[in-house]
Amino acid sequence: MKILVINCGSSSLKYQLFDMDKEVCMAKGNVERVGSPDAFIVHRPEGRDKITYNVEAKDHEEALKHVFAALTDAEIGVISDLSEVSAVGHRVVHGGEKFAGSVLIDDEVMKALDECQDLAPLHNPPNIMGVQACRRLMPNLPMVGVFDTAFHQTMPREAYMYALPYELYRKYGVRRYGFHGTSHRYVSARAAQVLSRPKEELCVVTCHLGNGSSLAAVKHGISIDTTMGFTPLEGVPMGTRSGDIDPAIVSFLCEKLEKSPAEVVLGYLNKKSGVLGLSGGASNDFRDLEQAALDGNELAQLALDVFAYRVAKYIGAYAVAMGALDAIVFTAGIGENSPEMRERICKRLGVFGVELDPEKNQVRGVEQVISTPASRVAVLCIPTNEEITIARDTAEIVKAAGAVS
Ligand code: ADP
Repeated sequence: MKILVINCGSSSLKYQLFDMDKEVCMAKGNVERVGSPDAFIVHRPEGRDKITYNVEAKDHEEALKHVFAALTDAEIGVISDLSEVSAVGHRVVHGGEKFAGSVLIDDEVMKALDECQDLAPLHNPPNIMGVQACRRLMPNLPMVGVFDTAFHQTMPREAYMYALPYELYRKYGVRRYGFHGTSHRYVSARAAQVLSRPKEELCVVTCHLGNGSSLAAVKHGISIDTTMGFTPLEGVPMGTRSGDIDPAIVSFLCEKLEKSPAEVVLGYLNKKSGVLGLSGGASNDFRDLEQAALDGNELAQLALDVFAYRVAKYIGAYAVAMGALDAIVFTAGIGENSPEMRERICKRLGVFGVELDPEKNQVRGVEQVISTPASRVAVLCIPTNEEITIARDTAEIVKAAGAVS
């Protein structure tokens, strides 16, 4: 069975084609600058060189046509006809309270997705455009929606409620939802496999540290808390997002900067803050910051310290939330590739008996235990794989629904 995984952003479309019989990726790629005259596609057939060329893609539907053409091309393609694809799995950022798991997409689901747009005005519209474009181009193909929020729907009320007037939750759905769920689900399950322990016995903190960062408390295989909230702005500082701040800062800044709340939240808290803002604009990329800190840039050092402190603080909080701490998992761009940041974080966790093995910690992008045998908490580096998780959910759901044999 071949499954196509699609992830649409506002001006990009990422794709991966999997052969699920062997669970291997046959090709992957992305169309960038969708909607602009200089759109281009990067196509990577497995085991061969990547190919980049300009395309005309004024919208996601046109972008998809180029993806289909690349996948079925005689030279750079990996299948001879689109009919070889059995189903499509779509990444959808926000499923609200309507979706606690992945679903087969039908008209009713499309309606429910529309209703979630309100909750994620930046992220959901492009995801939904991708689904609509696929449905138009391949009307008979079963499609599955996999939600970033779904894994966190198991959070107890005490973890997801804000201390705001209760009716704001009832009327407008103002509560904590959490994101990166597909990644937290994948790496927490892998951690149990690597440690040869049933996930039902483990209390794991998963640290997805990338451009956007979040942590999750995964107790016995279930998410009981996570750092992102109503939007991905809450939690630890990120590349350009502030993470937790006193909300009164927003109205204070509106007055000082003579900006609207939306301008402050989007322009400042989302785009100019985080380690970029803290470092005085040096960079939002941790590679640059680590180099700048080594070169004596004090604000770059401050940005790294604040980041490490806040991540460590949440790990401590989640040990309390779970009543135990068996493992810490590092994943995503920084978590997988920065031994320095993993060390900065773990050296603050001595109270839990966390002991990194300095040599094992040198790995980048490799699945491995990086703590010492004596460490009271196992620490792991686990490259995330959201796409295979989406493909697995899709295969499972279309099979169970009898949509494909
Ligand atoms: P996204 O959230 O966009 O998916 P990623 O998970 O790919 O982001 O993470 C991107 C970030 O990972 C970059 O901004 C960079 O800061 C960080 N990163 C990547 N490689 C390294 C590295 N070798 N050392 C430190 N940071 C790294």
